Amino acid sequence: MQPKKKNPKCVRMYFPINILLNNLWGCSYAWRSILQARDVINKGAIWRVGNGELIDIWRHRWLPDLHYSKIISPRANTSVIRVCELFVPHTKIWDPGKLALCFLPWEAEKVSQIQVCSDGEEDVLIWPLTADGEYSVRSAYHLLVAAEECLAPSSSSLAHNHTVWKQIWKMKVPNKIRHFIWRAAKDSLPTKVNLKARNVSVDVVCEGCGDYSESTLHSLWLCDQAREVWMSGSEFQFLIRRGCRSFVELLEYLFREGSGLQVAVFATICWCLWQRRNRVRMHQPSWQVHEIEGQAKRMVREFWDANNQGQHRSMRRPPVRWSPPPAGTYKANFDAAIFEELQCVGLGVVFRDHSGQVIAALSQRIGLSRTVELAEALAARRAVEFARELSLFDVILEGDCLRVVQALNASGGCNTLYGHVVNETKRLGADLRHCSYQHVCREGNKLAHCLARRAVSSADIDVWVEDLPEDLDVVLQSDLS
Ligand SMILES: [Zn+2]
Repeated sequence: MQPKKKNPKCVRMYFPINILLNNLWGCSYAWRSILQARDVINKGAIWRVGNGELIDIWRHRWLPDLHYSKIISPRANTSVIRVCELFVPHTKIWDPGKLALCFLPWEAEKVSQIQVCSDGEEDVLIWPLTADGEYSVRSAYHLLVAAEECLAPSSSSLAHNHTVWKQIWKMKVPNKIRHFIWRAAKDSLPTKVNLKARNVSVDVVCEGCGDYSESTLHSLWLCDQAREVWMSGSEFQFLIRRGCRSFVELLEYLFREGSGLQVAVFATICWCLWQRRNRVRMHQPSWQVHEIEGQAKRMVREFWDANNQGQHRSMRRPPVRWSPPPAGTYKANFDAAIFEELQCVGLGVVFRDHSGQVIAALSQRIGLSRTVELAEALAARRAVEFARELSLFDVILEGDCLRVVQALNASGGCNTLYGHVVNETKRLGADLRHCSYQHVCREGNKLAHCLARRAVSSADIDVWVEDLPEDLDVVLQSDLS
């Protein structure tokens, strides 16, 4: 396989990975030392399915999951080797019959959820441990450390915790929140599990979800309501993907990988979740779950402003409100909502003109996608397709997922697990007369958000032309007021 030279980004990416996976003999010292990285890359790199011709079903890692990317179903059918053989012939659609034949049922389902673009890009080896899909030594190092820790007899060590305590006191948040996080890390919050351990007679089931025991990790991180907050943006995806077994482990990873701002927002969201939990139990008024993220960010911003940290400039937000496009242009707001329990994703798109009038809107339900970024990229692609269906040729696409909008605006291909959808969106957009991509914060994207959430209660797809469902009128009016 030859290294590709489409653009500098690709060179950095394809060059090491594709070369390193082939044996090179008699090479220079530099090459030999680079080759030592091969094992690391073998452990971390994942194939993103395009046309499926390069990927060996049984030998390669190609399931879009960090912890489990290689097929583990026993190989009963020896004639099927390449991933492309799992498609319905001459399409890029998974053949359910073949999947059932080759894989255990749960693994067949996992494969069927992999998004493949119909225009059949090539298969690409990507490095899923960094946000932009590019290999970095730092991420490789963390991969090795994580692998070592899994092998070690006991992974929790006092030495680790020592740095965690120090980091907790360094967090740029009000003292009450530091104290709170410190207690959570020591597992001394009065959760139901902890009360029970102290012989208080309580029912340990969490009142938030009614399903699981209320431990610290559950109430602040795993519970449905907490998850709704953490999943609403993309900034904590790296933690969600990690899968931690305790709150301390979560903090450890956050301190290692997150920015100071992310740490502060994380701590404040935890504090807000706990405040909310207590107020709800006491039947006192409190924030709605969807308000928590905004509330926490406001608190952090106020604290940083008051403490004159200077870094609050990085908090500068995109425009808060929806704004109409210039005359003659149409703006599509797009959004996605993940319904984990229902195993589906809702897409919402709404086109408006310069006077704020709705041209058309859609709400569509599709199969589950693994990450927020992938779901958002699918919403962007749907928005471009919708523009073509409506014969709108001058459009601005606006979404609230910064990573996806940045990827859409970047030159060259996108080497992430959702990159194929971004690439296809850009190709479809390039066929229009004018198509640009803009970021807006969530407050400015409310209408698309509501349409995405609506998908769960609707038919597979609902389309409204020059109209909107009545219950969304309030949201539309608030954008215009
Ligand atoms: Zn719960």
